[in-house]
Amino acid sequence: MGLTRNAVGIGAIDSGLIIRKQSEDDRVIALAGNPNVGKSTVFNSLTGMNQHTGNWPGKTVTNAQGYCKSRRNQYVMVDIPGTYSLFAHSTEEEVARNFICFGDPDAVVVVCDATCLERNLNLVLQTIEISPNVVVCVNLMDEAKRKHISIDLKQISRLLGVPVVGTIARKRSTLDSLLTAIDGVVENTRSTAPTLVTYPREIEDAISTIAPVIDELVSGRISSRWLSLRLLDSDESLVNEISAYFGESFLHDERLQKTIEKVRTTLLEHGVSSDKLKDMIVSSIVKKAQSICECSVTYASSAYNKRDRQIDSFLTSKWTGYPVMLILLCLIFYLTITVANYPSELIAKGLAWIQDRLSELFVALGSPQWLHDVVVLGIYHVLAWVVSVMLPPMAIFFPMFTLLEDVGYLPRIAYNLDKPFRMCNACGKQALTMCMGFGCNAAGIVGCRIIDSPREKLLAILTNNFVPCNGRFPTLIAIISMFFVGTACGFFPSLLSAVILTCVIVLGIAMTFFSTKLLSSTILKGVPSSFTLELPPYRKPQIGKVIVRSLLDRTLFVLARAVAVAAPAGLIIWIAANVSVGDASILSHCADFFDPFARLMGLDGVILIAFVLGLPANEIVVPIIIMAYMAQGSLLELDSIAQMRDLFIANGWTWVTAVCTMLFSLMHWPCTTALLTIKNETGSIKWTAVAFLLPTLFGILSCMLVSGMARLFGIG
Ligand code: GDP
Repeated sequence: MGLTRNAVGIGAIDSGLIIRKQSEDDRVIALAGNPNVGKSTVFNSLTGMNQHTGNWPGKTVTNAQGYCKSRRNQYVMVDIPGTYSLFAHSTEEEVARNFICFGDPDAVVVVCDATCLERNLNLVLQTIEISPNVVVCVNLMDEAKRKHISIDLKQISRLLGVPVVGTIARKRSTLDSLLTAIDGVVENTRSTAPTLVTYPREIEDAISTIAPVIDELVSGRISSRWLSLRLLDSDESLVNEISAYFGESFLHDERLQKTIEKVRTTLLEHGVSSDKLKDMIVSSIVKKAQSICECSVTYASSAYNKRDRQIDSFLTSKWTGYPVMLILLCLIFYLTITVANYPSELIAKGLAWIQDRLSELFVALGSPQWLHDVVVLGIYHVLAWVVSVMLPPMAIFFPMFTLLEDVGYLPRIAYNLDKPFRMCNACGKQALTMCMGFGCNAAGIVGCRIIDSPREKLLAILTNNFVPCNGRFPTLIAIISMFFVGTACGFFPSLLSAVILTCVIVLGIAMTFFSTKLLSSTILKGVPSSFTLELPPYRKPQIGKVIVRSLLDRTLFVLARAVAVAAPAGLIIWIAANVSVGDASILSHCADFFDPFARLMGLDGVILIAFVLGLPANEIVVPIIIMAYMAQGSLLELDSIAQMRDLFIANGWTWVTAVCTMLFSLMHWPCTTALLTIKNETGSIKWTAVAFLLPTLFGILSCMLVSGMARLFGIG
């Protein structure tokens, strides 16, 4: 899921709108569009960047920028969140609207879906009210062709009064015409004369009364026609932005206020209340979009849609929806575990061989023993574990998950889980943010911006940590392989591992529901809001691209993060495990300190301290445990999962320890990146503390319960 640098907020910009130009002459282009129309694909194709793409509405929640060149100009392209309208209702709609209105872009490209152009034109019509420098990019022309939809682009361009180009964003060459159109608009060689929506007479009269006053006050800095309408329907979030942009005094101008008051009274006299005004504005836009499409788009058949509906009735039905979800999850885990076994072992052997050569090198160079131990047994050993155990499963899991995302399966999951989330008084979109959490909880938390209601957004943020991120998967897989299915490869052990892992994930999802319900009936009470979830058409995934991108963007990104944390952690842990204070090492002292409490949870002091030290990244928990145990005397070559099992058993692990470690891995505090993201998104230390405590308390309680039961029945 959204596990790229951009997805976790690095390199992405919000409504703060800091445009980083490479040279003064750079022109700024905003890429707007409804969600899921291929905007990020256009952005990536033009800029060569890797903004997260995926077949579901709502995945881009912040602005991101990149650079591209046409034959004549250099551009800063800004990919803004997908939005259906500029009458902002949610955070990402606000981000989009603010950039178009107040970001002063040189041109706005509105990317549209050729297969449902009429709905997309609503945004185009709203955009040309704000700025005449608009280019309409009708994307997904290949899909339209397959659906036998023919579009007269020239006719649409004539009716809108702005350039309209057809593209297939997945094919870079089709975007040349888009760049040429942008060149024309920014250089004014291609004059645009947008045909604006005409509103009913009462509204037109109102506009012509207010607009001249605005023109006098802000002299052409913004479309006075558009601003007149917004001031009339007193859009609150926009009022704040306007104050920030033009200064407080603008809205307090006496003449402006009096004019608006007068116009409102006149409108009321004509039976146009504030709600009716909104309806009239929206229906005029909708009618105009309809009339444009009526004379320029023709549909030849509906068979294509029928196939999608048939698949949907299987994937989202009451009887088959949940089993299919579980089977798919289990299948992904099965493939991950079976296929990952072989490369894991090979990599481990290769890295162990390198370790021996490194040791020989240290001897040959005559370096002191402690230096060899720090570098080879400390830093290198932890790195080798992280790489050999994490890389293969991630390299298999991520591409498969991304393929499902690209086909369009994620919104179907959200659809299936909508009902249970509503029963917890939360929003069905939480299911999407939960899916994002599988990749990275920080990405899942940023993704919660797609939820409009602040209460429901908070519920989603606070409970996101119950789905294990990629950092915790390898820990879970390693423990399952060691303690529950033996260390042999083969069909049944792998299937059993996959089933157990699926059960752990289902437990995580159940805990998400439980804690959401708990919060929504205590500190976050409220009724669930309604929302429309769009089920996008199924699309043929770009298999090659998905594999390459998810390997480069997600797998290597995560691995690099793990390695960056693991290397210094390896050093610190080695020092802690080998430097003695009194009769024992620092690590032993710490482990002894935590031990009594850890025992109550079915763990030991070393495991608990590994979780504490793993706060920067969950990936390093198991390496810390290994290091600590090895420093306590058992020296061995750790090149297979079987040897790891022996090491753990020699240190007193039973299957109860394994269950409790898995439970605590599933339910404990979020990592530092996730905590910082929660602090950013909620702006509150209090809610960050709740997000820290909630899973931790559940984790401690469930571990105590399991180990208590085991003791009671004398098992383990
Ligand atoms: P955004 O939400 O508007 O940014 O949409 P994305 O760029 O993430 O694209 C949504 C989905 O449509 C992804 O699966 C893309 O691979 C796919 N896509 C984008 N453009 C095209 C296109 O022109 N043709 C086809 N067939 N698929 C496309």
